[in-house]
This record gives sequence, C-alpha cells and structure tokens, in this order.
Amino acid sequence: MVKKVLKFGGTSVGTIERIQHVAKIIKKEYDLGNKLIVVVSAMAGKTNELIDLSNQISENFDKRELDVLLSSGEQVTCALLTAALIKLKINSKSWLNWQIPILTDGDHNNSRIVNINVSKINQYLNEGVAVVPGFQGISKNGDITTIGRGGSDASAVAFAKLFDTDSCEIYTDVDGVFSSDPNKIPVAKKIDKISYEEMLELSSLGAKVMQPSAVQTAMMYDIPLQVRSTFTDRKGTKIFDQQNIDYTKSVTGVAYSKDDAKITLLGVEDRPGVAANIFEPLNKAQINVDMVIQNVSSDQKITDITFTIKRDDLIKTKEILQKNKNIKYESITHNANVAKVSIVGAGMVSTPGITYKMFKALADDKINILAISTSEIKLSVIIEEENTLRAVKKLHTIFELD
Ligand code: ASP
Ligand code: MG
Repeated sequence: MVKKVLKFGGTSVGTIERIQHVAKIIKKEYDLGNKLIVVVSAMAGKTNELIDLSNQISENFDKRELDVLLSSGEQVTCALLTAALIKLKINSKSWLNWQIPILTDGDHNNSRIVNINVSKINQYLNEGVAVVPGFQGISKNGDITTIGRGGSDASAVAFAKLFDTDSCEIYTDVDGVFSSDPNKIPVAKKIDKISYEEMLELSSLGAKVMQPSAVQTAMMYDIPLQVRSTFTDRKGTKIFDQQNIDYTKSVTGVAYSKDDAKITLLGVEDRPGVAANIFEPLNKAQINVDMVIQNVSSDQKITDITFTIKRDDLIKTKEILQKNKNIKYESITHNANVAKVSIVGAGMVSTPGITYKMFKALADDKINILAISTSEIKLSVIIEEENTLRAVKKLHTIFELD
C-alpha cells in the first residue's frame, strides 16, 4: 500500500464521459489498496468562462469576489468526480478549501499555499478516496483565495509535500515531457526520466506540460513527480533529482520561445552603475529582461548593450529607455522578430564540445546567431524568428534526439 496524490487537469475532467473515465483510473489505483488524495482542476474552459462572466460585470471585478467566482470551477469537478466514484462503489468524499482547510498567504488571485491541515483527510484515507480542489485556499482572514492560473499543479505538489505521499502523479492530455514540441517537431520523443532542473528549463522555454513554479517547489522539497496521460496507458515522464538519472546523452531536449524581441543600446558609457541605471526602471515597470550582452569596449569608455525581452514589452521598453535621464547612449536599435532556441541537458556539463557542435550546426544551415547565453545545463541562442523551426529540427537531429 502506498499513499499517492493523483492530479487531473482540466482536459482530463473536461466532460462527464472523461470524469467517468478518470473515476475508473482512480478505481484501479484504489483496488490496489492505495491511499489516494485526488486533486482536480476545473473542467476545461470553465475558468476562462468564469473570467468572461466577471468581465461582463466589470473589467475591474472585485478581486475578493473573483476568487469566490473562480474557485467554483474546481468545486463543480470535486462533486462530479466524487459522485462518479461513489457510483463505482468506492467510498469517496470531497472537501472544499475551507473545510480542510488549505491555508494561503498573499494577495487575492495570486496567493500561495502555506499550510494544509492533514488530520481530517489522513483519517479519512483509511476509509476512502479524498477528492480536493486545486487552485485555491483560504486566507488567514477566512477569505477564499486562488493561487494563479494553472495553479492546480502547485496544489498537487503542496498536498504531496504536506501529506508526505509516496508519489505525485500529474495526469494530463499529453504522454509526458518531450524532447521538443511534438506538435511542431514530429520526431520529438517522450523523455522517460528528467531532472527537476531540466524540466524547469524546458518548461520555462515553452514546453508547457506543468506549471514551472510547481516544479520549483517539487525540486525544493525533492518531491518526485510523474507526468502522464489520462487517455493512454503509457508510462509518462518521471521528474526527479538529477542523481537518479544516468545520462547517456548530453542533450535532453531542444526548446524554443518565439515572441521575443532584442534591443541594443549603442554607444553607452562604460563605467560602474550604467547597467544598473538602464535596468532599474525596466525592473520597476516589471519588464522581464532575459539575455543581456555587453560588448568589450575598445577604449574603455564606450560600449554597446544588447538585451532581449518579450515582444509585447517592446514599445514600453523603448519608451522607458528614451525617457531615462540617468543614461547616455548614441542610439537604440531593435529587432522585433527574434526567437530563442535552447539545448537543455544535465549531461552537457560532462561533455566537451557541445557549444562548438551547436554553433557549427547552425552555421552549416546558414542560420545567423544574434546573441548567446549559457548556464550549466542550457545553451541558448537568439536567432531570426523565421529560422526557428529549421534550427530546432537541426539541433534535435545532431544531438541524436530524433
Ligand atoms: N482552473 C485553473 C485554471 O484554469 C487552475 C488549473 O487548471 O490549474 O487556471
Ligand atoms: Mg489547467
């Protein structure tokens, strides 16, 4: 007997038939004698629908009331799934956030789970399956809160941590984590095992299988995760500590993010404090700066600084730079159509020549590199957006991921 968290995402519980199917998956696990805490999302599209409704009242819908509204999506799934289990003759009971309670801290619409009372549910697990809502909690003041879009992954990880479960299985609509986007790169393969760090790099770069902050929490407390499909019997992807993985390949996946833009400040003074002066107002405006590159200045006085941001922030960023009285530069240029392509792999650390191999492959295909950045397990380049898929395919092939 093991204790498990099983989390089902919106598409997995998107219709009554699917909820009945999920009930059968749970029955199989239950018949093995496992203790199960089932975390559910709202039915697919439900949360968006509720947001639409709120917008019809006001674009500035009261934040406290928005949480009351949005948390109802998961409440519906809890009841439907629990009743489906009862119909299969499984003891089951649902709990809402305040009944458990799931304690949160922080602002409305953007709280985080700080504690979950385990006593009632732990006791109930001797009798049946506990079904609980993802994405929500209750604040110290007793107000209902939600924890940000996609937050039910974080709920699942919090339940796994606080109930000290043996596993945390994330059921979703894909077979697992892939070596690249399987919709665009048909030769991409499902990865059987991946480290938290690699998963984070891949997910923040566009492989949206799980919410990155949930993976971060799992990494912090070393809670192994398994991502798998609700609709097939395939094994899925295990996400755990790097030590548990034997790396046979240097690169685990190739990720890309489109919708980036690149800005260059030409002729910037090269003295202490200049970079801070450039980025301070951007930080204040909550503009997310990704890569930063500073040229070496020949006469020690003038240099160029290039950085990348999300394309949506381009106009705002240029305005802020132009208004900034604390910096001097000759001119600003930008490229609004760039993409970031990255190879990710914990095996890269121990394999020499990866950098050269990547650059050579791109050069052979006449793909120009506009900027480069590296971390221990990732090597990213900025290229013209139109070359993105060509670059990803090429790298996927030369690093033997096809
Ligand atoms: N229902 C919420 C959302 O759509 C939470 C989740 O599905 O993870 O964002
Ligand atoms: Mg969801």
